[in-house]
Amino acid sequence: MIVTPVTKLLNIRVPIVQGGMQWVGVPSLAAAVSEAGGLGILTALTQPSPDALRKAIRETRSKTDKPFGVNITLLPTINPPDYQGFARAAVAEGVRIFETAGNNPKELIAYLKSEGCVILHKCTTIRHAKSAEKLGVDILSIDGFECGGHPGEEDVTGLVLLARAAQELKLPYIASGGIADSRGFVAALALGASGINMGTRFMCTVESPIHEKVKERIVDSTELDTIHILRTMHNTARVFKNKVSKEVVAIERRPGSKFDDVRELVSGVRGRQVYERGDPEYGIWSVGLTIGLIHDIPTCEELVGRIEREAEELMNDRLKILSSSTTTGTRA
Ligand code: NAD
Repeated sequence: MIVTPVTKLLNIRVPIVQGGMQWVGVPSLAAAVSEAGGLGILTALTQPSPDALRKAIRETRSKTDKPFGVNITLLPTINPPDYQGFARAAVAEGVRIFETAGNNPKELIAYLKSEGCVILHKCTTIRHAKSAEKLGVDILSIDGFECGGHPGEEDVTGLVLLARAAQELKLPYIASGGIADSRGFVAALALGASGINMGTRFMCTVESPIHEKVKERIVDSTELDTIHILRTMHNTARVFKNKVSKEVVAIERRPGSKFDDVRELVSGVRGRQVYERGDPEYGIWSVGLTIGLIHDIPTCEELVGRIEREAEELMNDRLKILSSSTTTGTRA
């Protein structure tokens, strides 16, 4: 058993959190991750309305009696959603764990704290993490440049960002971006994290709602198959490298290009079709560099169990051997 401040705060068995993912964080996946001993997360903005989120929360609760959370991401959107309405709906349904992310979360955090919620706030810089500490969040999710979706604009990799977190932060933090297996998990613990967040890895599980053909494409891809879009608009997103994402980057390179020139290509409504039709080339879909580490489609229970078991083996066998060989002078 790996017990950390995060397992205690969230009342979960193993400190593995499924990050909120647009169109992917639905009841089947969130419940399966929580049942496996981690923390499943429903993505609020995947639901068309606060009422639909209420139904999704009830559905998740019908599948698990373990804790799960709700993600609310505050980033530029084509149709601005009713963030407060989503937050109030989730609180009214009894949710007390939230993953927040994105810009200007002050009001949302103040409201959730006034309702006694535990908040994991995702940040891509130490400066934002320190502001979130001041706003009263409970756990930070430190998101390195390897991540899928929005890595911020500073391009600091997890290895450095987590070590900086260890130097600077008072609150417990989990490592996000670039982690898909037990090696990443143990490395994150060594870097001072109290757990991990995984997105892309959970996309490629039996209970993930995306089309089987997209899961197979993830398995067949390598770490060279992602690309950054929206860099020129200061809203960078790491997504799967396909015809559409390459076209977006080509348009962005044209002098004077604006969001309107790529709006239709990057729209989430179109990206959703990728998952429904099973056509990885049809639109934009977020994936992290861990796409190169994923070689199978396990159940969430198999995946979480495997990471937990292998992490314990790594710590008890390989790392112990290495540390004893340092004192005896033998090679591991
Ligand atoms: P959408 O269709 O509204 O927009 C598509 C993409 O364009 C998104 O990356 C969005 O951030 C970006 N965008 C929208 N307006 C923009 C503008 N004026 N300037 C620059 N970029 C702009 O998005 P969606 O796919 O329906 O997703 C809804 C929201 O959830 C977006 O803010 C998106 O970034 C965010 N999101 C959340 C997660 C998550 O894990 N919770 C994952 C992916 C996306």
